Amino acid sequence: MKALLPALLAAALLATAASAQPAPITLVENGPRAERINVAVVAEGYREADLDAFQAAAGRLIDALFATAPYDRYAAFFNAYAVPTVSAEAGADRPARSEARDTYLSATFGCGGVHRSLCLGGDGERRLNALLRDALPEYDVALVLVNDAEYGGSGGRVAVVSAHAAAAEIAVHEMGHTLAGLADEYGGGAAAGFASRNTATDAHPAHVPWSAWLDDATPLPTPDDAAHGHVVGAFEGAAYADHGAYRPERHCRMRALGHGFCAVCNEHHIGAIYDRVSPIAAAWPAESDVTAGAGRLAFRVDALVPAGQARYEWTVDGVTVGTSAALALDAGDLPPGASHVEVRVTDATDEVRDSTLVPLLSDVRAWTVTRPAATAAESGAGGADTATRLGLAAPNPVRHAARLPFRLAEGGAVRLSVYDALGREVAVLVDGERPAGLHEATWSAGALAAGVYVVRLEAPGATATQVVTVAR
Ligand SMILES: [Zn+2]
Repeated sequence: MKALLPALLAAALLATAASAQPAPITLVENGPRAERINVAVVAEGYREADLDAFQAAAGRLIDALFATAPYDRYAAFFNAYAVPTVSAEAGADRPARSEARDTYLSATFGCGGVHRSLCLGGDGERRLNALLRDALPEYDVALVLVNDAEYGGSGGRVAVVSAHAAAAEIAVHEMGHTLAGLADEYGGGAAAGFASRNTATDAHPAHVPWSAWLDDATPLPTPDDAAHGHVVGAFEGAAYADHGAYRPERHCRMRALGHGFCAVCNEHHIGAIYDRVSPIAAAWPAESDVTAGAGRLAFRVDALVPAGQARYEWTVDGVTVGTSAALALDAGDLPPGASHVEVRVTDATDEVRDSTLVPLLSDVRAWTVTRPAATAAESGAGGADTATRLGLAAPNPVRHAARLPFRLAEGGAVRLSVYDALGREVAVLVDGERPAGLHEATWSAGALAAGVYVVRLEAPGATATQVVTVAR
């Protein structure tokens, strides 16, 4: 009985020591943790005196990651944190040389019999889970940085890299496994390969998962030569097998460091990013139920999508009324009662072709806008405007394309056309039946000479015209 109390006390102290690690340090914060991919760089094999070096190394690792495609363009989708731990000794175990180090997560070289494979041994993975559960429960990707200068790393549920000069290169490769679910594309053995997102065991186009990237001009299997250095095909040698397994491109970071990701591995990264984070950062009004009063209703959406790649589509009760980041509605644009206003934001990148990934690249926000019956009644007495009208072209002057909003008091046959200064019809933008409500047409004026043009709306019971200038 006497020995029990000190033993319990010692256990309690040990437990305290294990959980009382230094607090995480924010390296990059682009948004709320619940709405970003949170990368945790976790220290392993760093002593208390080494923690400044750890923070600096973690910062360099994150800087290098976000300088690498496609992370460079999608950096706004990520937060990054340095999670310190204190080890009694520096470095990692080397079982082949019977070297053991007392470290927090028991990192060891020689995993699976491969010396440069560096992973967490013993109960390291359990300790890592416990640590992150306390320190950074919102983490999505854990990257363990091992304080050992020898080249090494491994991927899987957790990515582990050494502090070798190539750490960032290794980390980006291991993130390919951990974040994008990719397989290794290197051969090297006589074992049978396996099929995955970026490896195939059959070079027939029907059995290659990246068939969206194949064209008829590329032979399958694809010759491993310079003439096919930048095409997507099916190159033999992948998934640890030299024969009977195929990879998408001749070169890829999942095959060898020093190269970028191939087109297929790149698209799976972008898919993985949008699988976790919406392309919509924020939208206004903040409330989803809105009442249309006397003033204008201003809608706006902020996209996380890389510059120049965002597409917007606003609809009112299923009819497209806008294609920019903002939309303004008058009460008179809406029928009495409730209307469904929706914006769809899409990353229009041409880097994603896989039909299972494409739907991840867009998201919607929706509002229910109620126009009180009283407002509708007022409009009849000259209040809100419900008449058929042609909205202002934007931009005007136009160089390439202009948006032309128009509203119909009643449904029916509509013709929206453009005439030049000599009265010749140069474009027909709408010619057909349209329902009552707000609409928008796009006029591509890029091929027209500079000058003054007239846009003419012919609708049931009304016609309207507007002068638009084409500038060059
Ligand atoms: Zn690849």
